[in-house]
Amino acid sequence: MSSTAGTANIGVVGMAVMGSNLARNLASREGNTVAIFNRSPERTRKLMAEHPEAGFVASESIDDFVASLAKPRTAIIMVQAGAGTDAVISELAERFEPGDIIVDGGNANFHDTIRREKDISAKGIHFVGTGISGGEEGALNGPSIMPGGTAEAYKTLGPILASIAAVAEGEPCVTHIGTDGAGHFVKMVHNGIEYADMQLIAEAYDLLRTITKRSPAELAEVFTAWNSGDLESYLIEITAEVLKQVDAKTGKPFVDIVLDQAGAKGTGAWTVQNALDLGTPVGGIAEAVFARSVSSHPEQRSAVQATITSRPTVVEVDVDTFADDIRAALYASKVVAYAQGFDEIIAGAKQYGWDIDKGAVAKIWRAGCIIRAQFLNRIVEAYQNNPDITSLLEDPYFASAVASGEEAWRRVVSTAALSGVPVPGFGSALSYYDSLASKRLPAALVQGQRDFFGAHTYKRVDEEGVFHTLWSGDRSEIATEPSTH
Ligand code: NAP
Repeated sequence: MSSTAGTANIGVVGMAVMGSNLARNLASREGNTVAIFNRSPERTRKLMAEHPEAGFVASESIDDFVASLAKPRTAIIMVQAGAGTDAVISELAERFEPGDIIVDGGNANFHDTIRREKDISAKGIHFVGTGISGGEEGALNGPSIMPGGTAEAYKTLGPILASIAAVAEGEPCVTHIGTDGAGHFVKMVHNGIEYADMQLIAEAYDLLRTITKRSPAELAEVFTAWNSGDLESYLIEITAEVLKQVDAKTGKPFVDIVLDQAGAKGTGAWTVQNALDLGTPVGGIAEAVFARSVSSHPEQRSAVQATITSRPTVVEVDVDTFADDIRAALYASKVVAYAQGFDEIIAGAKQYGWDIDKGAVAKIWRAGCIIRAQFLNRIVEAYQNNPDITSLLEDPYFASAVASGEEAWRRVVSTAALSGVPVPGFGSALSYYDSLASKRLPAALVQGQRDFFGAHTYKRVDEEGVFHTLWSGDRSEIATEPSTH
C-alpha cells in the first residue's frame, strides 16, 4: 500500500465497524477522496480488498496517513472511546498544523471533549467532538450527526458531514450544535431519551401481554398498527419485528427465550448523572436506566420472589379499550420523556455556555438515529412557535395531546399497580406531570423538616424574606439570612 501525498479531503482513523462504514459512506459521495488508517494494518488491508470501488487512500503508518491529507487536514477518529481516542488524538495533534481539524466521532463523554478541545485548540488545531447516531447501519447509509467545536471548523466540516448524513424531509440530519462538548452532550441526551422510549414501549408490551393475555405475534400486529400517526417511529417498528420473531431452535416466540436482563453501555447513566449535577429532573430517563439495573440483579429478584406467596390477581379489562388506553398512556409518557431530555439540553447549554437551537436538534433526530420519529416534527414546531417555552408540556399541541390522554394514562397506571405489573416509566412520567400540574406541592413540608433539623430556613408565601423557626426554643419565627449549609 502506498500513500498519495495530500490528495484526500477527509481521513478516517479506526477501521472497526463504525469507522469502516463511515469511510465507505464518505467515499460514496461525490467529491470525497477518503484517506484511511487503523492501528492494526490487517483491518485496513481487509477493507481495501473488500471495497476497491471506494478508492480509499490507505496508509499503514500515521505519518503516511497525515501526509495523504489535503490541507487544511481533516480527520475523523472512530476508535474505542476513552484511552484509545486520547492516543489517536495525541498522534494526530503531534503531526497536524494550525487550521487542521481533528474530529472525534466516537461516543465520548462530553467532559472529555471539553478537556480535549481546550488542549488541542491551544495548538491552533480545531477539535470537533461529534455525536454520531444510528449504529453501524447509520454510519454506512446516513447517520444523524451532532457536531460541536468552533463555527470556523464547521465551515469546512459541515458540508462533508452533510454529504453523508441521513436526510429528513429533504434536509440533512446535521447541524452545528454548539462549541466544544455541545455535540457529545446532545448525543448523550439523545441516548438517555432512547433508554426512556425503549422502556416505555417495553412497559406497554408487558401490560398488554400480562393483562390482555395476547401472544407476542398478536402484539406484533398491535405495534404495527401503532406505527402510524403520532407513535410512528423506528423503535415501534422494530418492536413489532422483534415480537414477530420465532426462535428457530424451540419454535417459541423469540422474546420468550431471551434472558430478561437488559444491558447498558453507560450513556443513559451519564445522562442521569449529569441531570443530577444540573438539578434537572429526568425521572423518566432515570427510571429507564434503573429498570435495566433491576432486571440485571437476578439474585435479588429470586430472593424476593422466594418470600412472596401470592401475586395480585390481574384486573379484568376490555381488551380493545385497554389497548387504546395504553397507546394514549405511551404517547403521554413519551412526551414527558422528551420534555425532560430537552430540559437537560437547556440546562446544559446554560451551564456550559452553548447556544443550542432546540428545534434544530429535534430536526436532525428525525432520521438516521435510533429515536427517529414523526413525533419530532411536533417538537420542531413547538420550538418554532416559541423558542422560550419553559417545558415542552407548555406547548399548546403537547398540552392538549397529554390532556386528551390523561384519563387513559391514569387508568393504565392504576390498573398496572392493582395487577402487579411494574411500570416505572409510565408511573414516574405521570407523577412528574402531576407534580408540574399541582398548585401546591408537599415541598413546603420538606422545607419545614429541613428548617427543623438543620436550620436550613424557608420562604413564606405571604411575605418577602428568609425565615427560621426556633424549633428548640419557643418556636417563634425570626427573619434571617439564607442558610449556606
Ligand atoms: P470499537 O470496538 O469501539 O473500537 C475498535 C477500534 O478502536 C479499532 O479500530 C481499534 O484498532 C481502535 N483502537 C482501540 N484502541 C486504540 C489505540 N490505543 N490506538 C489506536 N486505535 C485504537 O469500534 P466501533 O464499534 O467501530 O466504534 C468506534 C467508536 O464509535 C466508539 O467510540 C464507539 O463508542 C462509537 N460508536 C459506536 C456505535 C456502534 O453501534 N458500534 C455507534 C455509535 C458510536 P485495532 O484494530 O488496532 O485494535
